[in-house]
Amino acid sequence: MPRTTITEEELRAYLAEQLPAERMATIERTLRDSEPLRQQLATLARDSDQGGVTVGEVWRRGRLSCPTRSQLGAYLLGALEGAQHEYLDFHLQTVGCRVCNANLADLQQAQSAAPEKQRRRRKYFESSAGYLRRD
Ligand SMILES: [Zn+2]
Repeated sequence: MPRTTITEEELRAYLAEQLPAERMATIERTLRDSEPLRQQLATLARDSDQGGVTVGEVWRRGRLSCPTRSQLGAYLLGALEGAQHEYLDFHLQTVGCRVCNANLADLQQAQSAAPEKQRRRRKYFESSAGYLRRD
């Protein structure tokens, strides 16, 4: 039995490469010596490929997949559809991604400096969304 206890949470974080380098190395060493742990890791990797939905999983995914700047722009204009809007809400507010919040603040500033352009862009988004919904 290895002396270090490695939790399932840690293994997931290991898969996502979100542990400190030292801890990553410890887990790597432990994995080399432990067949059951390797199997556990393989199972977790499979699960996460199939879209696990634990809160931790969602959190990490949210963290790993930052929306693009144009998605942030659309979010700011209220031009995103339900699920996408919720995802960005989650990413920005619950996860509190600092990169994206900084990006958003930057976009906000640019838009408040150009209100006319913003109105035109919103019109564009609304009309294309309407177009897509038509049969
Ligand atoms: Zn982000």
